[in-house]
Amino acid sequence: MLPRVRPDWVKAKASGSNEFEHTVEIIKSCGVNTVCEEALCPNICECWKNKTATFLIMGKVCTRACGFCSIKSGCPSALDSSEPDRITEAIKALSLKYVVITSVTRDDIQDGGASHFALVINTIKTALPDTKIEILVPDFKGNATAIQLVVDARPDVFAHNIEIVRKLHGKVKKLPSNYNTSLSILKTVKEMCSEAVTKTGLIVGVGESDSDIFETIDDVSANNVDILTIGQYLTPTTYHYPIARYVTIEEFNMYAKHGEKLGINVIAGPLVRSSYNALEAYKQACYQK
Ligand code: SF4
Repeated sequence: MLPRVRPDWVKAKASGSNEFEHTVEIIKSCGVNTVCEEALCPNICECWKNKTATFLIMGKVCTRACGFCSIKSGCPSALDSSEPDRITEAIKALSLKYVVITSVTRDDIQDGGASHFALVINTIKTALPDTKIEILVPDFKGNATAIQLVVDARPDVFAHNIEIVRKLHGKVKKLPSNYNTSLSILKTVKEMCSEAVTKTGLIVGVGESDSDIFETIDDVSANNVDILTIGQYLTPTTYHYPIARYVTIEEFNMYAKHGEKLGINVIAGPLVRSSYNALEAYKQACYQK
């Protein structure tokens, strides 16, 4: 049975700091959204104190309603053409040398927002050529033209999260999300650009077994993914998909070892999220290439 109180190893340290307040001010003044806030990330104190944030583009309303996600679902607004400049401004103000950019899913837009991603990447590259860019994209319903648009913009890391093991994928994620589509996106990126660094993320504690997790790690490896993050699922509210178990540190280490044996850079731990310590993961992947 799930303990009533969250175990200590799944608790983040909450502490205010001047650096945290400074990050808040910059994000507010640039008028940008972050997944740190919208996804209720437990690492926000630590990351914002270190002046790292993950930007959420194309609004903060998603066209899907996955059972694990706290982001609002509904009809999003039209894309804002000033967003690429505002994101660039925020990166500059935070002096970021490595930035992660993700988005809500926009099934209402024909290319799923791929050209907007490309515009954001190109705007940052023009203004801040030394800043490395990791993008974490939705599935674009597996549309290869959309994927190509983003690959052509040459982000330093192309990430797409599988999130949930095969067995539970259809139960927790909202259609048309599909486990095989997510895998094929990662494969397609490598086919389009063999030098691309690819990355994916998995959340555990949703109801899967160890062998389900090993199966996903094997699938990720078979599709030549460079970086895999594995973190504990934390349900945002009682209306969301429930937590099935708290995965122990030893279990996370066991999953990481399995992936590393297959040649993947695995970052696994209770509070690991796909953008957590992203620069370190990128450096490690480049070192091993
Ligand atoms: S782990 Fe990622 S999403 Fe969470 S606070 Fe840090 S940068 Fe933001």
